[in-house]
Amino acid sequence: MTITREDVLQALSTVPLDAGGTPLSASGRLTDILIEDGGRVVFAIVIDPSEATRMEPVRQAAVAAVQRVSGVGSVLASLTAERPASAGAQTPPSPHPKAQSATPPQRTQRIPGVNHIIAVASGKGGVGKSTTACNLALALQSLGLRVGLLDADIYGPSVPKLLGIHGKPRLLENRILEPMEAYGLKVMSIGFLVDEEAAMIWRGPMVMSAITQMLREVAWGDLDVLVVDMPPGTGDAQLTMAQATPLAGAVIVSTPQDLALIDARRGVSMFKRVEIPILGIVENMATFICPHCGKTSHIFGHGGARAEAERLGVPFLGEIPLNMTIRELSDAGRPVVATDPDGPHTALYKAMASQVWATLSGGATARPAPRIVIE
Ligand code: ADP
Repeated sequence: MTITREDVLQALSTVPLDAGGTPLSASGRLTDILIEDGGRVVFAIVIDPSEATRMEPVRQAAVAAVQRVSGVGSVLASLTAERPASAGAQTPPSPHPKAQSATPPQRTQRIPGVNHIIAVASGKGGVGKSTTACNLALALQSLGLRVGLLDADIYGPSVPKLLGIHGKPRLLENRILEPMEAYGLKVMSIGFLVDEEAAMIWRGPMVMSAITQMLREVAWGDLDVLVVDMPPGTGDAQLTMAQATPLAGAVIVSTPQDLALIDARRGVSMFKRVEIPILGIVENMATFICPHCGKTSHIFGHGGARAEAERLGVPFLGEIPLNMTIRELSDAGRPVVATDPDGPHTALYKAMASQVWATLSGGATARPAPRIVIE
């Protein structure tokens, strides 16, 4: 059974926004309503950050009301402090989001001074997403770019450790935080602000407001690229975050095993669903060269991510080997691109960075060229 935007608005008209009884549907507070195959309905309610507590029951009532619409499978509604260009009853949002478009819609306000924001994401944890985010950020910097790194992996912020940063950021005027610095990167992490156990139990709206704060209430200054280390997975929190961040594109990190590739595919489709271009897939922990005998082994299989990228029609950004030096340096807070700038692994990250930057700056297309077959 097909659900229409009107069905959803009809349900939301029964939810009062305030004591005055303004229906949520007519409040001008709704963002685009996405209706996915399978009956999942996704939308957000625009609030001022100070209204978060008062609006949480409204959000819950909205979920319950839409859930009652016949044909609806699940409902994801979040509170957002970002007012998208299309918010408001006057601008009817598109009920049928396209699968992917070349230029992403500006759902959320840009961050003044920050030219491109890119996500580094993975379908599951432990594949080397944060290690890739740090080294990619450093490799972009080695191209002469001004780069920031935002650790949004709220459930396991590891950037402070990977970059060896200790201490807390300074609070400047007007509640603005000064980013920390490491190896020339401007860095912000939830790990600087709360301890890990506290972040683990945060609910959706709290996660969103923490991310919003780290994006917008930080003195990033002028940056060419801000790399965002996303939380792993493709659940509701990740989807909401992808929607609420003005992303220019996403890099997906995967290991070569089939299972990781299934998760990576989910990651690709999550970003496509919210019309964020895929900058490419990275195969991490691809090959292992024995430091003693020099023999190459493919511990997790090999080449799966390249084949998957080809199948999905997205760029392949390269293979990073499973390497003791990468692990030891990462875990000691001395990422390989910073500590071994002329080494073979740095060259791989630099090639990845060049390809990403070419796509971002429109200098070249990173899509694989079509194969011409002469019969
Ligand atoms: P995620 O962010 O996906 O959870 P991390 O980047 O924290 O993953 O990496 C998990 C572990 O794997 C860390 O100990 C890290 O040093 C190690 N690691 C990541 N990439 C590599 C690699 N290419 N070779 C060896 N170890 C790696």
